Amino acid sequence: MILSSFHDDARRKVFLQQLETTQWDLAIIGGGATGLGIALEAATRGYKTVLLEQSDFAKGTSSRSTKLVHGGVRYLAQGNVKLVREASIERGLLYRNAPHLVKNQSFIIPLYNFWDRLKYTIGLKVYDWIAGRLSLGSSVFISRADTLKRLPNIKSEGLIGGVLYHDGQFDDSRLAVNLAQSIYEHGGLAFNYIQVNGLIKNGQQVAGLECMDTETKQHYKVNAKAVVNATGVFVDDILRLDNPKAGKTIAASQGIHLVLDKKFYPADHALMIPETSDGRVLFAVPWHDKVVVGTTDTPVETASLEPLALEKEIAFILDTASQYFVEQPTRADVLSVFAGLRPLAAPAKGQKTKEISRSHKIMVSPSKLFTILGGKWTTFRKMGEDLVDRVETELNWEKRKTATPSMHIHGYTNSISENDPFSIYGSDAHRIKGMMNGDAGVWISDSLKIHKAQIVWAVNEEMARTVEDVLSRRTRALLLDARESMRIAPEVAAVMADAMGKDDTWIKEQVEAYRSLAEKYLLKA
Ligand SMILES: Cc1cc2nc3c(=O)[nH]c(=O)nc-3n(C[C@H](O)[C@H](O)[C@H](O)COP(=O)(O)OP(=O)(O)OC[C@H]3O[C@@H](n4cnc5c(N)ncnc54)[C@H](O)[C@@H]3O)c2cc1C
Repeated sequence: MILSSFHDDARRKVFLQQLETTQWDLAIIGGGATGLGIALEAATRGYKTVLLEQSDFAKGTSSRSTKLVHGGVRYLAQGNVKLVREASIERGLLYRNAPHLVKNQSFIIPLYNFWDRLKYTIGLKVYDWIAGRLSLGSSVFISRADTLKRLPNIKSEGLIGGVLYHDGQFDDSRLAVNLAQSIYEHGGLAFNYIQVNGLIKNGQQVAGLECMDTETKQHYKVNAKAVVNATGVFVDDILRLDNPKAGKTIAASQGIHLVLDKKFYPADHALMIPETSDGRVLFAVPWHDKVVVGTTDTPVETASLEPLALEKEIAFILDTASQYFVEQPTRADVLSVFAGLRPLAAPAKGQKTKEISRSHKIMVSPSKLFTILGGKWTTFRKMGEDLVDRVETELNWEKRKTATPSMHIHGYTNSISENDPFSIYGSDAHRIKGMMNGDAGVWISDSLKIHKAQIVWAVNEEMARTVEDVLSRRTRALLLDARESMRIAPEVAAVMADAMGKDDTWIKEQVEAYRSLAEKYLLKA
């Protein structure tokens, strides 16, 4: 069944009935960037496709990125030209296919010595060249005066100039939601709040999966010719459902970001510090009228959907930012802190997580369970293409051609107005504005520009089920200003309850659950 829009409660129930009655070609476990990319690829090739996500779409790593659609200057420095080439092509394709969510972002690397000038000017010319006709613009050296004009808050002592280059910048969880909508538009299904807890086998071969609706606790058996494990840092849990003795394939590496008011970084250009004291890259990226500063690379043992920033990571980012910003941020200035886990392939002996390749890796178990590791948000489409190609090869299916390189993602529009807070909704913006019923200027949050109509829209059309879904991933309130998001949570819950037919107990539970979550995004002084 193809529907152009989803997704209120009633329609969810109708779609859930198809889970057990359909013989699926592909069932995909995990609704982050990777799983959504695979499901969209499979659905657009005409396969009967279903995706199951245990929490909300992009609840894991995919809502916690640095928000860059990039070739990866750092990977070039590591000599990984193949990855940079692949990511640069994907950056260009995504910029074309989702212009409402991806923008051309200029970056400046401030230079403090002649050697760095030489290194980065030449290096970024190579970066431009690798992207070829999909480049977002040429890099140039800019003078000290020009650098200071463009980055008014940057420390001037010892500065000799800068290199300006272009990459993409996007809204990660909004893209995830739009991908889920695109899956429906191409005949597939994608469910949030359905957890996979078993595999069905026909002899030795995987033939489906068992799952549970985490809201109703109803269990389902899903028959599928191919099952794909795209669960990010949780892939080993699914591999153990297939083979309880399966070893460790994943190494999780934590990265955190701090969100600050734009007064600390009032520039339109992003800042790129190519080599921090721990040998990483630090970005300060303007995002929804705030600035996101990150990230770190800390190996962690346990996978979690809500990883916590370590004190030493917070101190490291504040210290490094203070070395470059004229106005130095303190803990009290942090509007939100968020952490994510990179799903990296387990390292070779003695290898550090920052040295592990960010390329993706596909594994096929003897039972024909397909597992995918690593990768980046930027390359989600290519990961989907490669995985579906591999399924076709392994299961001897007739090859079908990919259509995703030029496929518009839900919300695609050519007319983007940068100053419109609703521009991220793309072609849906006018429908949301049409729901404002004369109260266009009445914001639930004036500072974050959140309107009641967006909340009703998120429930009816974007599969939002909880206050957290709305405040963290449909709007980005939790990441942009955790305290303000807590203030508006009761009103958001009331609007949702009205749209979903929920009672006061639901409102109370939702607000409490949201408060205890949002506390973790705030720093104690
Ligand atoms: C700090 C940081 C910054 C980054 N910045 C960038 C960037 O700027 N640009 C870029 O291109 N990339 C970036 N990345 C990389 C990118 O974010 C990740 O590669 C990508 O989000 C991983 O997506 P995923 O779908 O594999 O994993 P996830 O997003 O974690 O998705 C896996 C999903 O599987 C679900 N799941 C697990 N178990 C089950 C189960 N039993 N049943 C059902 N569902 C299940 C989880 O709930 C989860 O939602 C960054 C990563 C980090 C950590």
